[in-house]
Amino acid sequence: MVRVLRVAPDSIASELGIVPGTELLRANGRDLADFLDWEFLTADDAFELEARLPDGEEVVFDIERGDGDTMGIELEPPNVRRCANRCEFCFIEGLPKGLRKPLYMRDDDYRLSFAYGNFATLSNLKERDFARILEYRLSPLYVSVHATPWEARKKLLNNPRVPNIVEQLRRITAGGIQFHGQMVVVPGLNDREVLEQSLADLYAFGDACLSVALVPVGLTQFSHIYTGESMDAGNATRILEAAERWAERAQRERGEPWVYGSDELYLLADRPLPAAAHYGDFAQIENGVGAVTSLRERVAEGLSRLPRIDGRRIGVVTGRAMAPLMPALLDRLTAATGARFELIEATNSLFGPTVTTAGLLVGADILRSLEGRTDLDLALIPAETINDNGIFLDDKAFVDVREALPMPVYPSYDFVDVLEHEDKPSCSLSGATDA
Ligand code: SF4
Repeated sequence: MVRVLRVAPDSIASELGIVPGTELLRANGRDLADFLDWEFLTADDAFELEARLPDGEEVVFDIERGDGDTMGIELEPPNVRRCANRCEFCFIEGLPKGLRKPLYMRDDDYRLSFAYGNFATLSNLKERDFARILEYRLSPLYVSVHATPWEARKKLLNNPRVPNIVEQLRRITAGGIQFHGQMVVVPGLNDREVLEQSLADLYAFGDACLSVALVPVGLTQFSHIYTGESMDAGNATRILEAAERWAERAQRERGEPWVYGSDELYLLADRPLPAAAHYGDFAQIENGVGAVTSLRERVAEGLSRLPRIDGRRIGVVTGRAMAPLMPALLDRLTAATGARFELIEATNSLFGPTVTTAGLLVGADILRSLEGRTDLDLALIPAETINDNGIFLDDKAFVDVREALPMPVYPSYDFVDVLEHEDKPSCSLSGATDA
């Protein structure tokens, strides 16, 4: 059963009298267990829908819809499938106590992998899940492979019952499903031979394995189950060299690099980031693969849209990882706008100084970086630090942080998104709400 959260006005559902709270039971006689069933079993133009209205009345609707007509139903959020692992590198295990509850939720859900590109280990798949993946053709999936040698994967996931991922992938790819893979690389556990074997196994899937991202392990000061070696420049370099060997082969044989090091690996190894052409359609950008290159591209494309704002003093807050790359970008912005940019490198007070990603800075870091800076006309902060409700990871509200600071503060994804409006009298906020 799935339950209706909202009904769009003038939609098929509202005409039928379906209201919030209605339970949708079956479509064409098949049980509706979740949003996937709802999507796929009601995809035809005509179907029979059994529902229970909030007053308990059970109704059967014969639905026929024309081209482009939608039901107008938004479902209640699904119960997310929890993970059965305790990965060496689990970021959630590295969270401090006392944060808001949803941050501690360890989801491992193939349905969200298909729907939103969340990575899933597939370690909690049941027979019924395999059947659904194949029947609904849930492709591509985003799979946290981490290692293909079974014993290494059990160790990495701290789960002796984890299934053999190669067999699982064989099963779904035999049914025409493609996947993007990721490996969080832990020196001493899945680098060197394990990495080599894993890339060989994944490459053997041919076109079914669309891409592989190699991401360096990232720990906070609270990570307590880690047994690997430290991820230093030497390890990062070795991992990138392995990736490049496979990427050269893939480029020759498949016409694309196929395996990609995340930006963080390049920064750790102090090696230049590849150009945009290397990343193709940036399929793993959410995984930090090509994000910096994409940012550079967006800035370059946006420069011509920027107004002259000569002499304005603009603070740009970022984390330590991005700081070395910023001066070149800010120079370009200065040339285009005439503004004076000041790079402000913030340290992560919640997760500790080992966490250097700009997007994980918290409200307290922004406050500390900008308080008392009456010399700045405005400040830009990474928009990724704030969720859809305008809240930082430390539960501070963006509006409160903004109110406490002496200059206007704007969340920004690529500088251009804010600066292109800066000659207008009222600048709209990007990326955050007052909610
Ligand atoms: S799969 Fe691993 S990394 Fe992901 S939530 Fe579970 S324990 Fe954490």
